[in-house]
Amino acid sequence: MDSLPIALPDFAPGTVWIVGAGPGDPGLLTLLGWHAMRTADCVVYDALVGDAVLKLAAPSAELIYAGKRGGKPSPQQTDISDLLVVQARKGRRVLRLKGGDPFVFGRGAEECLRLAEVGIAFRVVPGITAGVGALAYAGIPLTTRGTNTAVTFITGFTAGGQIPDIDWAALARGSPALVFYMGAPHLKHIADKLMEAGRAPDEAVAIVSRATLPEQKVLDSTLARCAEDLEKTTLAAPTLIVVGPIAALRRDMRWFEEK
Ligand code: SAH
Repeated sequence: MDSLPIALPDFAPGTVWIVGAGPGDPGLLTLLGWHAMRTADCVVYDALVGDAVLKLAAPSAELIYAGKRGGKPSPQQTDISDLLVVQARKGRRVLRLKGGDPFVFGRGAEECLRLAEVGIAFRVVPGITAGVGALAYAGIPLTTRGTNTAVTFITGFTAGGQIPDIDWAALARGSPALVFYMGAPHLKHIADKLMEAGRAPDEAVAIVSRATLPEQKVLDSTLARCAEDLEKTTLAAPTLIVVGPIAALRRDMRWFEEK
């Protein structure tokens, strides 16, 4: 990094950097994220963080996995926050690496609050969230002047695994472009609610699987058909669901997957 014509902040021992790794393609990491990867003593990473990004860690760095594994229960959020505290108190440079952006459906806030509570200095490095990165790689513009003046990011899943209590009528009316994270398990319900609230059954839906990775796949469908189409197709997790006229634009704008 010595040759970079900009100064990057010092990653001080005993501090925590909460870094967004982006959706998968390591090229989407920010310069701050890269700098942190090269200098961290310890990297605490989630299931969504890909191997290609982890390869950027210094050979001497300890990599600690803090995600779900093989059906076993995931570590409790408080356990992860405490792990960060313990590692930082050892005087290490602790990198908390999260998929996408740490503050978008990523529980980064809970970790920051815990660090603030115990007086450990931290920095938050944003990442490219799936709702931005997946769309770019699927050839779907988040906004165009002709289609939408608003876009909404929604989680299809609450902490308890339920469908969130959403005002579907307001959502359907207020936002022509809808991007659902963690929506696949409840896709039928989501599509039904949107159609009940007045969205057209033939409205475009795109489901982006493993976005920005070499194996990215996109299922093109409509509101009326998408749940059935998803059932018939094997799409690897994670998947992101895009609803609205923007999803149809990829017909002409797709560039990443093979045509
Ligand atoms: N903090 C993350 C989101 C975590 S929630 C971010 O900002 O992107 C996890 C959900 O994100 C997944 O269920 C999926 O809906 C979405 N997601 C994350 N990475 C993805 C990828 N590479 N491809 C498709 N969806 C992805």
